[in-house]
Amino acid sequence: MYPDSLKNLIEAFKFLPGIGEKTAERLAFSVLELEDEQVELFSSCLMDVNTKIHKCSHCNTLTDQELCNVCSDSTRDGNLLCVVEDARSVFLFEKLGMFHGRYHVLNGLISPLDGINPEDIGIADLIDRIQEEHYDEIIFAFKPSIEGETTSLYIKRVLDGMNLKITRLASGVPIGADMEYVDSLTLERALNDRKVIE
Ligand code: ZN
Repeated sequence: MYPDSLKNLIEAFKFLPGIGEKTAERLAFSVLELEDEQVELFSSCLMDVNTKIHKCSHCNTLTDQELCNVCSDSTRDGNLLCVVEDARSVFLFEKLGMFHGRYHVLNGLISPLDGINPEDIGIADLIDRIQEEHYDEIIFAFKPSIEGETTSLYIKRVLDGMNLKITRLASGVPIGADMEYVDSLTLERALNDRKVIE
């Protein structure tokens, strides 16, 4: 029913999460209303993120440089390392601007039921980094879930004997909540009231 190019655009919008047929149609028709320059900008932005964004070679967060802004900032507190499950968590903390240490991004969380084991999420690199960089405190900032718990306990066990303070965010973040929906006050409190993992 639609001309091919319009039909292809509708199908392309459906690659995105949460976009069904109706929304895809609405977005595709909105594109037809845009100015030529806007469409060019849109398509070059898509190409740019695809070709320029990659993992920071040191902490694994997303960047378009060799080292991300945090890793290349010598004023950040080098005694605190916040371990997160994905790059989005880094941007969330940075947006709130209340954490001044460094980050390490894992490739997700351990989940035996889904066949995701410690070696799949880059724990060995994290341990190497901790051994080389001499932190005072390691903070686990995972979303509260069985997987977050399993991952915290696993890493804690590997780090035992290294004379580190190991903490997690205080509860108050609702169980299963996606970190991005947690409001800044809750997250700030969870960070300030972080608990030592026994
Ligand atoms: Zn980095």
